[in-house]
Amino acid sequence: MLLKNRVAIVTGASRGIGRSIALTLANNGASLIINGTNLDLLDEVAEEVSSLGHQCFIHSGDVTDPETATKVVEKAIDQFGKIDILVNNAGINKRSSTLDMDLESWQQVMDVNLNGNLYFSKAVLPHMMKQNYGKIVNMSSTKAKSGHQNAAPSYGASKAGVNYLTRHLALEMASYNIYVNGVCPGPIETDMITQWSEEYYQKVTSSIPLKKLGTPQNVADTVLFLASDMSDFITGEIINVNGGTYMD
Ligand code: NAP
Repeated sequence: MLLKNRVAIVTGASRGIGRSIALTLANNGASLIINGTNLDLLDEVAEEVSSLGHQCFIHSGDVTDPETATKVVEKAIDQFGKIDILVNNAGINKRSSTLDMDLESWQQVMDVNLNGNLYFSKAVLPHMMKQNYGKIVNMSSTKAKSGHQNAAPSYGASKAGVNYLTRHLALEMASYNIYVNGVCPGPIETDMITQWSEEYYQKVTSSIPLKKLGTPQNVADTVLFLASDMSDFITGEIINVNGGTYMD
């Protein structure tokens, strides 16, 4: 029970990595407010969390609308009176070359991956500052750190922005005992890989030094570490969870 009596907000919790994060935080004692846009899937996650004996409230809404962050935070304060943890996980990816990418698509990826992260951080920070405690964990990507052919430039650029925001906020908020860290996953076995051919799957797997894809649980365990007291001398850090595909 690493997160006993903690209250956490998790964005993009309806499926994939975010769903695993929500269940892992709840399994460790946290009460949750979860966000995404698919209400049916959010309901399923909330039911699963409740079956573990923990409270879970839903606020569905698009993270690109600053009002969503305001409403999620209001709900957390109404239900629990505080917010200890924010996991900015919601994200989208696009695949195209720079020349094929239209500006609308660039903007959409920036809006979800980077601006959404900023809106939620700005909404929780006054509450964390008041209680002189908080843990923010931002979901980035290996693609923030190195050129990559299997994603549009908007994806890596947005995640590089997330990395900078992580370090900037870590510095700005350290005196309030607010920790801001990030996670950079490499290839993780989510819904996305159902679109892969067996040949592509083998190609990707064999290119990873550990010769396997990561699981959503691998990422969720790293988020748990960063959200818990176990990481109490770590801030402004962005941890690679990538099987050795990129080392820095
Ligand atoms: P996923 O399965 O596609 O799930 C994305 C989540 O984000 C969903 O819960 C989705 O909710 C939510 N979301 C997307 N757009 C949203 C919006 N505008 N407003 C609110 N919620 C929104 O993706 P994933 O693979 O789990 O990825 C989760 C995070 O890890 C992302 O930030 C991604 O960039 C990062 N990541 C993933 C990998 C990987 O290999 N999978 C690698 C590196 C980094 P709804 O469907 O309910 O809208």
